Amino acid sequence: MSMQLNVTHNPDLTSWITSANLVGQDFPIQNLPFGVFVTADQSEPHVGVAIGVVILDLAQVEQAGLIKIRNGSVFRSSSLNAFIALGSAVWSDVRLQISNLLRADNPVLRDNAPLRAKALVPQSEATMLLPVEIGGYTDFYSSKEHATNVGSMFRDPGNALLPNWLEIPIGYNGRASSVIVSDTPIRRPAGQTKAASQNRPEFGPCKKLDIELETGFIIGSGNALGEPIACEAAEQHIFGMVLLNDWSARDIQTWEYVPLGPFNSKTFATTISPWVVTMEALQPFRVSTPVQVPEPLAYLQHKPGIHHGVDIHLEVVLTPEQSGLPSTICRTNFKTMYWSMAQQLAHHTSSGCNTRVGDLMGSGTISGSEKDTFGSLLELTWNGARPLTLSDGSTRQFLQDGDELTLRGWAQGANYRVGFGFCRGKILPAIG
Ligand code: MN
Repeated sequence: MSMQLNVTHNPDLTSWITSANLVGQDFPIQNLPFGVFVTADQSEPHVGVAIGVVILDLAQVEQAGLIKIRNGSVFRSSSLNAFIALGSAVWSDVRLQISNLLRADNPVLRDNAPLRAKALVPQSEATMLLPVEIGGYTDFYSSKEHATNVGSMFRDPGNALLPNWLEIPIGYNGRASSVIVSDTPIRRPAGQTKAASQNRPEFGPCKKLDIELETGFIIGSGNALGEPIACEAAEQHIFGMVLLNDWSARDIQTWEYVPLGPFNSKTFATTISPWVVTMEALQPFRVSTPVQVPEPLAYLQHKPGIHHGVDIHLEVVLTPEQSGLPSTICRTNFKTMYWSMAQQLAHHTSSGCNTRVGDLMGSGTISGSEKDTFGSLLELTWNGARPLTLSDGSTRQFLQDGDELTLRGWAQGANYRVGFGFCRGKILPAIG
């Protein structure tokens, strides 16, 4: 079943919140992403929707009777989980009500100054919280270009992809407890590393700290243990998407990953953006995924005629602390991903593994085929062999203390973009 476009997707819609109508900003009335926030005056977390430079406080407009929902207490919550658990018909109905409330020709909230003062919060005055309570976090490895680059670097350029890669959406179980929201600082991890010239490893601060440019999807309805999700039904189980930075300690990873995969090299932190962009908001931007050869096994096959990719422009910006000068080090697009979100979820549950509302699935590093489209410093500098020169003249092989990394993402419409906001983190020195 494919989601239909409706009045909320109309490219000509405008809002009485004028900042939402500015070309090039992330949160027009066609987007309406969900997040959780507090302010200095309001310590109770509320669910809100980003619109232009402000947040619409859903707890306030629900209490005032302007949004109707069968359980309004879901908006006075420290996570989106209770709202998400109400199901896709409710997500869609609430989106329609919010779109109607914010459109330029609706005076109900527009002309109610006292309520507006309570219900609209400048984003600059809000602190965003982790939007979902994440019970499980899984990270995939679904960019063919990324897997080819890594295989070329560490194994054999002639046989870069391992034999299973074209058959399985490769993934591993990540660490949910260290998934953090944008703007949480990242402490440089310590761990075991071993130089090729040494017999024994040493323990100390990571020397090859890296990013991984990824997106993540949030499970909107789970599956029972023992009951797989079919590929053709998988998208109905997805609530929305975020930007995700899978911070990685490459020197620790190299030593520890055989035979069971990454562990401490990944578990110290994973940053996500605070606004969850719904699959409904992304519906106008669906595109086909790359042709797959060989044809996947039957349980991983897409239904013909349905687009399983999403056209999302992605960028990574590195800003050193000393100069404060930003450098865009990567520009790429999510549509290049080989394995789709539907295939990832179908494969994840094909064994009978259950998933739950709020579970997070990382796409894997998103790399294109050109050098400046690679989604990690590992690839951008070819494991440090070709340092990047930044706009302030300094060079990088891997991240230095004080570096701030910002991921951006947006789907481009005719006169508007459906954007993801920021996924940002700054590197703090290692302890000790
Ligand atoms: Mn990753």
